[in-house]
Amino acid sequence: MAYIQSYGAAEVVTGSCHVLHIEKGPVVMVDCGMFQGEHEKENYKKFGFHPRDIDVLLVTHAHLDHVGRIPKLVKEGFRGRIISQRSTFDLMEVVLLDAAHLMEEEYRTLFRKAQRRGEERKVAKPLYTTEDVEAVFDLTSTFAEYGEKIPLAHDVYAIFRNAGHILDSATVQIHYREKNEHRSVVFSGDLGNHNDIVMPDPVQVRKADTLYIESTYGDRNHKPIKESVEEFREVIFNTLMSRGNVIIPSFAIERTQEILCLLKRMYKRKELPPCKIFLDSPMAIRATNLYNKYHSELSRECNLFLKEDGTIFEFPWLHYTLKPEESKKINEEEGCIIIAGSGMCTGGRIMHHFKNRIWNPKNSVIFVGYQANGTPGRRIVDGARTIKIYHEEIRINARIYTINGFSAHADQHELIAWMEGFEQLGKIFLIHGEREKQEIFQKVIRHKMPEHKVHIVKEGEKVWV
Ligand SMILES: [Zn+2]
Ligand SMILES: [Zn+2]
Repeated sequence: MAYIQSYGAAEVVTGSCHVLHIEKGPVVMVDCGMFQGEHEKENYKKFGFHPRDIDVLLVTHAHLDHVGRIPKLVKEGFRGRIISQRSTFDLMEVVLLDAAHLMEEEYRTLFRKAQRRGEERKVAKPLYTTEDVEAVFDLTSTFAEYGEKIPLAHDVYAIFRNAGHILDSATVQIHYREKNEHRSVVFSGDLGNHNDIVMPDPVQVRKADTLYIESTYGDRNHKPIKESVEEFREVIFNTLMSRGNVIIPSFAIERTQEILCLLKRMYKRKELPPCKIFLDSPMAIRATNLYNKYHSELSRECNLFLKEDGTIFEFPWLHYTLKPEESKKINEEEGCIIIAGSGMCTGGRIMHHFKNRIWNPKNSVIFVGYQANGTPGRRIVDGARTIKIYHEEIRINARIYTINGFSAHADQHELIAWMEGFEQLGKIFLIHGEREKQEIFQKVIRHKMPEHKVHIVKEGEKVWV
C-alpha cells in the first residue's frame, strides 16, 4: 500500500514537506519548505528521511514555507527531478537567493562578534549559501503546464491546476495504480481566495481518494474584501491628510502586488491624496517584474491595467527603491506610503522604517498579511508597547491596523465549498494550519460533510492511503 509522511506543515503552518511512497513506484515529495517564526530551529535538524531516496519533487508554489529547504535537500543528496510551473522556478530563484543572502549576512555578523570573544567556532554555519541555491537549478527540471499529464514513472502521473494563491501556484493531483486499481492523491497546496485582486479563482479538482488540504484559515471566514478595501482606503486617506506616513509590512510575493494594484486603482479613480509611494524591497521589485512577465495568468483587472497603461503595477507616484542609498533617502520624505519586507517583520528594510517612524503617533502601520506566532509582527499586532530594533527598545506609538481581508488563502467557507465541489472524494487530511484552528475546522467538516473521515496529520506519522 502507498503511504504519506509529512515532515513539516503538520499541526503548524510553515515547513510544508510531504512524501508519498508508492508501492513498487517512485518516492514523490510535494514541497520542501522552510519553518518560520517559533519553529525556525527545525530547519537545522536532520531530515526524517534520506534525501537521496526521493525520486521527484513537485513544487506547488514559490513561497518560502514551501521551497525554503530545497537547497538543504540538494546539499544533502537529493538528485531527482524537480517539477513545477516555469514562473515558479523563476520566483523560487528570487526567493531562495534572498534567503541565502540573509542567512550569509547574519552568519557574518555573528561571526565577527564571536571573533572578538574568541568564540567564532561556536557560530552555527548558515543553513545554505548562494552556491547551494545555484546547485538546485543545475538539477533536471520539468516545466508543468496546467492540466497536462506529467509522467513521473510507469503508471504514475501528476496534474497541476491553478490554485489561485500566488503567481502560478498549483494544486497537485497524483495518479497511480495499485493492485490494478486506479488511485489518486490530491495536495491542495495553498488555496487562493476568491476575492483576490491579482489572482484568478482556484480551479476545482473533481476526484481524490485522499485529499491533503491546507487549513491556515480553517477556523474563520474573512471579512468581505469590500470592507477591507474601504478600511485600507480610509486609513491611508486619514493618515496622509494629517501629514502622517503609512508603513505597510508586506510579503514580497503576491501581497505586495495586490497592494500595488489597489493603490493604482485608487490613483486612477482619484481616491488617493497626492503622495509618494515607495516599494522598498529588492525582492518585491524582482517578484513584481516576474508578475509583469507572466501576466497572462493574472486577473482581468491586471490585464486591463496592462492594456491601458502598458504596465500592470506602475504609475507616476510609485517609486522602486532597489539600492540601499535610495532606501535611506526615504527617511527624508514626509507624507508617504512605504511598502517593505519582511512581511512578518523578522528583518529587512521594514525594521529601519519602524525605527524611524513607529514611535511617532502621527504615523500608521497597516498589517495586511498573516503574522505567525513568535514573530515581531505578531507581537505588534497583539498589542506590544515596544519593539526591539538593533538593540534599541523603540516605543510603538503609531496607530496599528490589521486588515485581514487581503489574505491569499481561502477561508473556512471557501475551503468547504472547494471540497464540496469534488465529484468523488475519499478521506480528508488537514495540514498547513495551527493545531487549535485545525480542530475547529475538523469539527466544521464533520458537521457539514459527515460522510467523510477527517484527520489532522502529525509530523512523521505514517498515513496509509
Ligand atoms: Zn503560500
Ligand atoms: Zn503556505
